[in-house]
Amino acid sequence: MSPGRRSIFVCQRHRARALHFDLRLEVDGVLVSWAVPRGPSADPADKRLAIRVDDHALEHADFEGATGGDRPGSVIVWDRGTYDHRTTDAAGSRQAIRAALDTGHVTVDFDGAKLRGLYALTRTGSRAGREEWLLVKKADEDAVRSGPGLTDAPRSILTGRTNEDVEAQASP
Ligand code: MN
Repeated sequence: MSPGRRSIFVCQRHRARALHFDLRLEVDGVLVSWAVPRGPSADPADKRLAIRVDDHALEHADFEGATGGDRPGSVIVWDRGTYDHRTTDAAGSRQAIRAALDTGHVTVDFDGAKLRGLYALTRTGSRAGREEWLLVKKADEDAVRSGPGLTDAPRSILTGRTNEDVEAQASP
């Protein structure tokens, strides 16, 4: 990474068999990824299940489009921005993000349009070979405890489209 360039994150809204959000953090040239069935929340009281999924190529961060398969689906770039890794160890020193991922506790500071401020990702166990984590907003000045949820804004941050728009534009 060139000096001064912050790592990117993306959160894609993926309409598939089940709607979910894919949260991806740039780490060492790949996108470390979690599928978040209910999507992120800005309310520190909400604990959102986040299932660790395969790393994706960095180029996937810009992907919007219809997805094939046995039923229609689509991906939009729901939010995108940069993040700072903030995990510290017991002594208060900043950890490397790979070490934090291995330990199962990662704190990040998002600078996106929808995702703002500090979030914690904590591994809670595994099921069917997949790591289960919880994504929780930290109680900082970006926390929002009432009103519409983040996921009530369903449009692409890149194109203003909804998943339904993308699917309609893809069909002849
Ligand atoms: Mn997905």
